[in-house]
Amino acid sequence: MATEFKNLIDGDWTAGAATVENINPSDVSDVIGAFAQADAAQLDDAVAAGRSAQRLWGATGLEARQAALDFVGQELMARADELGTLLSREEGKPRAEGKGEVYRAGQFFTYYAAEVLRQLGENADSVRPDIEIDIRREPMGVIAVISPWNFPTATAAWKIAPALAYGNAVIWKPANQTPASAHALAEILSRAGMPAGTFQLLMGSGGKIGNALSGHPGISGVTFTGSLGVGKQVAAAASANLTKYQLELGSKNALLVMDDCDLDLAVAGAVAGGYSGTGQKCTASSRLLVHKSVHDTFVARLMTALEAIKIGHALHEGTQMGPVVSAGQLAENLGWIAKARKDGAEIATGGERLTLEHEGHYMSPGLLVGTTNDMALNREEMFAPVAAVQKIDSYEQGLAIANDTEFGLVGGIFTNSLARATHFRRNIESGCVTVNLPTAGTDYHVPFGGRKNSSSGPREQGRSAAEFYTQVKTAYIRAGDPE
Ligand code: NAP
Repeated sequence: MATEFKNLIDGDWTAGAATVENINPSDVSDVIGAFAQADAAQLDDAVAAGRSAQRLWGATGLEARQAALDFVGQELMARADELGTLLSREEGKPRAEGKGEVYRAGQFFTYYAAEVLRQLGENADSVRPDIEIDIRREPMGVIAVISPWNFPTATAAWKIAPALAYGNAVIWKPANQTPASAHALAEILSRAGMPAGTFQLLMGSGGKIGNALSGHPGISGVTFTGSLGVGKQVAAAASANLTKYQLELGSKNALLVMDDCDLDLAVAGAVAGGYSGTGQKCTASSRLLVHKSVHDTFVARLMTALEAIKIGHALHEGTQMGPVVSAGQLAENLGWIAKARKDGAEIATGGERLTLEHEGHYMSPGLLVGTTNDMALNREEMFAPVAAVQKIDSYEQGLAIANDTEFGLVGGIFTNSLARATHFRRNIESGCVTVNLPTAGTDYHVPFGGRKNSSSGPREQGRSAAEFYTQVKTAYIRAGDPE
């Protein structure tokens, strides 16, 4: 019997109406545990508890709030190796990446612990005599956090930490693919000294509990990271109550490789940006737009680099790329390769199912060449260790193709021309831009988010987070006569 892990509702670890098993994608014989699935009545209980707790938490002194967040951050950083190993075991990214993610999650908490003490308002003189205006930010109420499996700890941290820092209660619905990391983070939060119900964990099915949470009238805001299709459902459910929402969604990020660039740097950038995390990153460079004069050399060098990647069990020494997250994701990825071939793309290397010593969801990193921007593989998100090359004649053509997409999360360019880099930074239609760097890899103290269908609502991270997790109150004060 697999160990059972429960939800955290109003301060109590609570069994669900059912459980789901969590299977290691590197070795499907390894069952990590059985995780509670909340039902509708438990959701109602959690919302009621969250509303009561928020009043206490919102009135808690700043230093106590700062200390609670700092406690969580310090423990995550101290236990990054242990919790990173757990994350890699259930998600499939190599251990070093799992450890790095947990450490980064800790940094989000310590950053927002400090932000608790930096909540400054504004003031103004009224246009009327003897009246002052005080403009302050207040908590929203209960925030629903719905997060994906690809960065199970970091994505949750960059939502939960600011929500709590600004005085809100949180109900977290993590992805069912990665509940062990969620339970571990919740366990730390349960010991942080916050009133019961301030932070609650509600594992359960996205279609049921996730949807009901988004549409619950007791929720004041929904912050969601995931796919475009599900994001639209979250927005529809939240809008029924005019609940504020923030969505970070899919992508189809382009990386321009120009004729004047450092090709070694560009190849390394394409590998890191397209294939780390087994390509399962919203910031992955899945469209490689390569100038015709360096195309063949770039493709040859990239093939060599991809074929040298050591694929294996996420927890094994030396593994550079783990499995994809699930059997369903693997089937989808292989389906994309078959469709790409049918649509006229050439498979330069990889894109094949691999059989290793453990039964897991392994595939080789794939590179597609001879592709055009109208092919489905260049228009829809694949979320696979696969990138597609398009040959371009000029920088101008590359920029036009990069912007010819419904998404706009990250755009990248490799060039040694300051003029091109500057023009690109100013004209790419994306929320983030990289120059001579992989498209994946961001900092925690600055805004993160996309444009077009990659994002909706205020930016996440850094001080921008206050836009979503607070509401502004404008007070008019007549001071009166001092005599
Ligand atoms: P997903 O299928 O959209 O699921 C995301 C979360 O939503 C999960 O917790 C899921 O629960 C839940 N959910 C599913 N159906 C729901 C519904 N009807 N109502 C409310 N919640 C629901 O995405 P994913 O496969 O986990 O993650 C991959 C996607 O995330 C990719 O599209 C990627 O680009 C995107 N992503 C974007 C960013 C960004 O910042 N732009 C960052 C990371 C990932 P279950 O697990 O139970 O289904």
